[in-house]
Amino acid sequence: MNYIATIGLEVHVQLKTRSKMFCASAVEFGAEPNTHTCPICLGLPGALPVMNHEALRMTVLTGLMLGCDIALISKFDRKNYFYPDMPKNYQISQYDMPLCTNGRVPLYDLAYPKDAQKNIVTPDKEVHLVRIHLEEDVAKSFHFENSTGIDFNRAGTPLMEIVTQPELNSPEEAFAFLTALKQILIYGGVSDVDMEKGQLRCDCNVSVRPESQAELGAKIEIKNLNYDYRYFPDPDLVPVKTEVLVADVRERVPELPKAKRARFVEEYQVSPYDAGVLANDLELAKYFEAAAKDARKPKNIANWILNDLQNVLSAAGRTISDCPIPPEALDELVNLIDNGKISGKQGKEVFADMFATGRSAAAIVKEKGIEQLSDLSAIEALCDEVIKANPKPVADFRTGNVASLNFLKGQVIKISKGKANPQLVGEILQRKLKS
Ligand code: MN
Repeated sequence: MNYIATIGLEVHVQLKTRSKMFCASAVEFGAEPNTHTCPICLGLPGALPVMNHEALRMTVLTGLMLGCDIALISKFDRKNYFYPDMPKNYQISQYDMPLCTNGRVPLYDLAYPKDAQKNIVTPDKEVHLVRIHLEEDVAKSFHFENSTGIDFNRAGTPLMEIVTQPELNSPEEAFAFLTALKQILIYGGVSDVDMEKGQLRCDCNVSVRPESQAELGAKIEIKNLNYDYRYFPDPDLVPVKTEVLVADVRERVPELPKAKRARFVEEYQVSPYDAGVLANDLELAKYFEAAAKDARKPKNIANWILNDLQNVLSAAGRTISDCPIPPEALDELVNLIDNGKISGKQGKEVFADMFATGRSAAAIVKEKGIEQLSDLSAIEALCDEVIKANPKPVADFRTGNVASLNFLKGQVIKISKGKANPQLVGEILQRKLKS
């Protein structure tokens, strides 16, 4: 019997705020344990929480980017449970009035794992969301051989929880969902979503049913058995009216990956695939735009970035953010090639030199003396000289021996010491020989 998997995800995302959700302690990954704490995030009796407005804004921004409905009034609740890394014995979270509901994450081909990209079951699938709410993270336990240590630096840092509808049908789709979501969160600047630092953590619910069965199988989440969270409104925090906040945040909504991909195709005539690769990495997309904005053929810029530049960067273990070739310098190089000042082959050498030394293409071309001769009258003179000196190949060409054109072309390039632009030479010779 064949089975269908139905997967729903619960994603916790650490927000990139400077301070914690309800106090002024700093948010910093990797700091010396227990150096970013205060009575509030340690849960000492009598300490009162104060709302971090930027965390609210970032959550609303996420909601706007994902097309959610933003609640007009939202409130915070206490979710009670005992856990050694949570001394208050409750987590401040949101229960029945979360900041955002509904919304969706559009999947796209490149978001899937490489080997699954050719076999996408539902192209352009959109994964719908149930809600996004804001809560505080707990401390982090470290289990040593004979003891457990607790680091409260993470306690009380703002955590956004994003819950999907159970609409994913394969691990590949779940992968694509997380990739697409991460990309949007990076675009919005709300999180660095580094999974190795725990900045994005994902729980999943999987239900399995026979293919012939329409209704979903039972969803079972095995967690915190024996508990009832006994949610109740946090009496220390007033409900939040979002109207002013939403108006504020609306201006911060960036161009999203899907729109950027479409614009790159439209504005720069790059292929949808190339647009996808460029928009996949916000820094790469910015680099491309900076290089392509004045380019005659932006598509050539894209080719250089996606092939040569990416190759040397990865070979050097660098990223686009510390690329030694500024985008304007790449544009200059591509222009030299497109205008026939240097050949494509010479361009590769100049490029390697630029990457190694950070010097400009023009300076390298000048120093190496490799500028191609593209001056029409100069090439015409060379062609005349060669035609005069080689009557036999000229006669051969005129009686139909096309191959002798290559011989003549070679002679022109030879007497130009390799500098004559081969394409121009070919054109001029043909014109002269046919007249
Ligand atoms: Mn949660």
